[in-house]
Amino acid sequence: MLIMIKPNVDEAQVAAIKSCVEDLGLRAIESRIRRQLAIAAIGDQDVAPNGLIESLPGVEHVLPIHKPYKLASREFHPDNRVVSVRHIPIGGDAIQVIAGPCSVETPEQMIAAAAGAMAAGASLLRGGAFKPRTSPYSFQGMEENGLKYLVDAARPYGMPVVTELMDPRDIDLFLKYGVDVIQIGTRNMQNFRLLKEVGQLQVPVILKRGLSATIKEWLMAAEYIAAQGNLNIILAERGVRSFEPAYRNMLDVSAIPYLKRETHLPVIADPSHAGGAAWMVPALSLAAIAAGADGLMIECHPNPAQAWSDGEQALTPQELHALTRQVAAVAQASGRAYGQPLIDLPRAS
Ligand code: PEP
Ligand code: MN
Repeated sequence: MLIMIKPNVDEAQVAAIKSCVEDLGLRAIESRIRRQLAIAAIGDQDVAPNGLIESLPGVEHVLPIHKPYKLASREFHPDNRVVSVRHIPIGGDAIQVIAGPCSVETPEQMIAAAAGAMAAGASLLRGGAFKPRTSPYSFQGMEENGLKYLVDAARPYGMPVVTELMDPRDIDLFLKYGVDVIQIGTRNMQNFRLLKEVGQLQVPVILKRGLSATIKEWLMAAEYIAAQGNLNIILAERGVRSFEPAYRNMLDVSAIPYLKRETHLPVIADPSHAGGAAWMVPALSLAAIAAGADGLMIECHPNPAQAWSDGEQALTPQELHALTRQVAAVAQASGRAYGQPLIDLPRAS
């Protein structure tokens, strides 16, 4: 439920309302509904005796949150949530691009990847150090060294880094290397222990849609993170498994406007894992931005033919550079801005 607080109520009264909510075993989280202070009481609502909350001094009225996902719903937070990743706002007016290779491989590869992503107009650098591979015999990631190569490559450009966490036992390592955004991959969208653990941090989380998850299941997974206190959640549509084998996954473009209406959380798209082929990435990227996505996560490798994973879907830095110009044009046509100044590549002499 949403407890709407009367205007000009002092802090002590707000604290008393919160502690009453907490004494009932519910979680009390502040929000603003059209500038009015509200406290969301989250948990098993049946524990509140009829009329108790309404009778507290300072309470104007109580509204139910109808959706099963409470903190993730627009009812809880009508304005768009902007998740700040260091100096970069995700979910605001500007479109942000996260780019980098599927896997972190070597220091040299990451230095080239960071330079390419930066020159192309990406604002965050991605790279997987712990890789969820279908086969146990495939390359599993560079693990701790991978985190180091990723962070070292991004530092000279001041770029925040995004990397996937598969196991709560690695959280301390992620914090030690200063990972800026924790990615929860499609295969772990409903790994509830993992979701609860990242919910206890304040580090922003990219929550990818499960391989065949419904939007409701996806938002309930986001709710697991939010219910622990971490509302810095970015949803990533990365294509769902469909009946169509011609491409890797089906980018659910419809999910983007649907989510933007249903939740205040930022929504980005990953056209690389959706199409599974580099040639499809530009069209899918533009479709996602036109549909209202707040950003894109694009795989980009300095030498896709030599990539240790997902090379067939990786763009070259030059291809990414050409694409970001188109993304900026579609963003502008949709009343949005592009997150970074776009710099022309030096002409080849
Ligand atoms: C990835 O981003 O490299 C990845 C493994 O993505 P997904 O979880 O969407 O398959
Ligand atoms: Mn990949």
